[in-house]
Amino acid sequence: MNLGLYLHIPYCLHKCGYCDFNSHPENQVESFHYVEALLKELKFYSTTLKTYNVPTVFMGGGTPTILPPSQLKKILDTVRQGFNLTSDCEITIEANPATIKLETLQEIHAAGYNRISIGVQSFDEKELQLLERVHNEEEIHSTVHRARSANFENLSMDLMFALPDQSIEKWQSHLKQATAKNPDHLSTYNLTIEPATAFFKLQEKGKLCLPHEDIQLEMYETTIQVLEDAGYSQYEISNFSKPGMESQHNINYWNNGEYLGVGAGASSYLNGERSKNINLPSIYIRKIETKASAVDTRERLEPLQAMGETLMLGLRLLKGVSIDVFENRFQVSFQKVYGKAVESLLNQELITFNQNRIALSRKGLFLADSVILKFMA
Ligand code: SF4
Repeated sequence: MNLGLYLHIPYCLHKCGYCDFNSHPENQVESFHYVEALLKELKFYSTTLKTYNVPTVFMGGGTPTILPPSQLKKILDTVRQGFNLTSDCEITIEANPATIKLETLQEIHAAGYNRISIGVQSFDEKELQLLERVHNEEEIHSTVHRARSANFENLSMDLMFALPDQSIEKWQSHLKQATAKNPDHLSTYNLTIEPATAFFKLQEKGKLCLPHEDIQLEMYETTIQVLEDAGYSQYEISNFSKPGMESQHNINYWNNGEYLGVGAGASSYLNGERSKNINLPSIYIRKIETKASAVDTRERLEPLQAMGETLMLGLRLLKGVSIDVFENRFQVSFQKVYGKAVESLLNQELITFNQNRIALSRKGLFLADSVILKFMA
């Protein structure tokens, strides 16, 4: 049995205006105790999850590279001691261009992290300032260069589109600048304004205006076109890669596979049960120190819910969902449960249903959220 392992580092130099992740201002004293708590939580789970193979580890945030490399190494050493990592385990670390020197990257790579995901977002100084990113354009170039010099052979970039006042031409130029850096993988997300963010308040006051939906759709089409022309294959709604360089960690999520999340606010899916740790790092630390567990919520999924989630996640992948695998997993007839929904979506040409697979059609890809909802009743 396979298990994806996610490690959450919740600290950032500054909270970006659009951010609704579980991230908090840098706090060196607290982060020292946080790492100790993380190690303790890892050891707690390692005793019960020894039978699993771990083909992927993902350290996200927040900004993991805000921690000293010695602590990042200590965390990975503890993971290796406690879990059964596969020999070709994909070990990703997220990085913010403002936080990384060459020596740091060399130490991180030597510690065993073999994939780096760089939060670029934009190549335009004004856009970076608007997003309240702490890095500038120059630091993107130097970070990519340093990461390659430090022997990271698997490099991903995150980019964001549909920013206020962003034109299609501007977005296209970002995509071209990104592909000129020859990353192995690209994630492209449109800016969405979430409640409880600084951007949400600005939008409420009418001070933030996103491009019209039609423009956003055109930007998405441009993304697919530019990246495919540059040799990247789209394998998920927002993700593109060179052949064989897909994010294995995220593919496990989209396959609704099992995963363990460790750290403040981290989620897990194990034995049909979803659980989530408490968000606030200070409370997470206290809970781990006193009880070794910081689980805040637990939910056992009903079969229909689990099936709906499997489709909701799997349809994000361009190759879709195998009906055989689905039926074996849930011991039901796919046709019996979803026949009506499939028929209606096929009539609207929003899905394809070939060779025993169900997938979004090209048209369905642009309307993915509403198509996927049809399976969540
Ligand atoms: S760097 Fe990422 S996690 Fe940190 S505040 Fe900005 S968007 Fe959020």
